[in-house]
Amino acid sequence: MDVLISGAGVAGPALAYWLRHHGFTPTVVERASRMRTGGSGVGFRGEALDVLDRMALLERAHALNTHPGDARDGGPCALEILRGDLIGLLYEATRREVEYVLGDSIATLEQDTDGVRVTFERGRPRRFDLVAGADGLHSRTRSQVFGPRERFVRHLGLYTAAFGLSSQRDTGLFHSMPGKAADLLRARDDGEARAVLHFASGSLTYDRDDVAQHKRIVAERFAGEGGRIPHLLEEMSRAEDFFFDVNAQVEMDRWSSGRVVLLGDAGYCAAPASGHGASQALIGAYILAGELAVADGDHTLAFAAYEREMRGFVAEHQQLGREGADRFFLGAPIREAPDTTAAEATLARIVRLRNYVSSPAAT
Ligand SMILES: Cc1cc2nc3c(=O)[nH]c(=O)nc-3n(C[C@H](O)[C@H](O)[C@H](O)COP(=O)(O)OP(=O)(O)OC[C@H]3O[C@@H](n4cnc5c(N)ncnc54)[C@H](O)[C@@H]3O)c2cc1C
Repeated sequence: MDVLISGAGVAGPALAYWLRHHGFTPTVVERASRMRTGGSGVGFRGEALDVLDRMALLERAHALNTHPGDARDGGPCALEILRGDLIGLLYEATRREVEYVLGDSIATLEQDTDGVRVTFERGRPRRFDLVAGADGLHSRTRSQVFGPRERFVRHLGLYTAAFGLSSQRDTGLFHSMPGKAADLLRARDDGEARAVLHFASGSLTYDRDDVAQHKRIVAERFAGEGGRIPHLLEEMSRAEDFFFDVNAQVEMDRWSSGRVVLLGDAGYCAAPASGHGASQALIGAYILAGELAVADGDHTLAFAAYEREMRGFVAEHQQLGREGADRFFLGAPIREAPDTTAAEATLARIVRLRNYVSSPAAT
């Protein structure tokens, strides 16, 4: 079966990996002209570590751990790596066996009884058996198939920016100002460092593709602040791997419609404040591909099972995302990892990784 995946962030390449593993033929289309490796650290724990292990990526991921001293299996910081390092690992694990189409995106989708006809912004039209939207919080697949974003996206009143720093000077510092915070993080032993800035705000209107405008918005918010902030803003103006987005959650009653299914932030974004976006994306990809395999490609059965497996897990993660954003507004020190022990125990009960094999008889 040919499966088109829109988006080469975390969820897209992970789904491609598992689909390939189960004998499907995935194609990934990514709007950006190269893999987008920006962003700060993403954390893994519990079952997400297990998925990395099953992909034979856990050892390499541990070698890239931004907090090697903190690595306590099952603890709040069992593994954290730069988002770009994770994208690199996933791409490397898939690129030889998966067709990646960079610099293009889906223009239209038309479903019929035995497939989906897809036209692209640039490439020629093609037919696929299934389409998976892994195109992030602002998913176009979602708006094309399920309805306008306003119906599903809930703004948490917080914006986050992340960018690379030219040195590790002052890393470990955390500036907290009313309605704003800046965190300077040592990212790797090789000199890598990142700044992560947050500010509270109602919904802002801006062009999502205009990075210069994003930088201006952040600079205006932090203008006039002292300490290391002026230096940070100067670094930001030069930064190439700049990430800026709203903290928002995606709430949907269904993640599939016919032959189109959503995963990762496109279907159930928990917001950066959850600290779980990448884990959700990895686990969602594993379960979606696995359910398709055990259902022998019967997408109706598989998508229903995927929803059943993921719902409780996503609800818990979204709760963590809302609590993370609330902590910011209460002025609690957001860089201190919250005590998530109880939540971890609940999450561990909610999602279970089955050993998916491609024949229903074998499960
Ligand atoms: C550049 C970048 C930096 C990030 N940095 C952070 C961070 O510092 N902290 C944090 O908590 N979260 C960050 N995130 C979000 C985080 O990666 C996700 O919450 C999480 O990993 C879930 O991954 P995802 O694959 O569902 O979505 P994403 O990682 O957002 O990936 C979605 C992908 O889809 C692509 N895409 C979008 N629209 C289209 C389209 N129409 N056609 C084709 N492709 C499309 C995007 O370019 C992107 O590559 C970042 C996301 C991006 C894209």
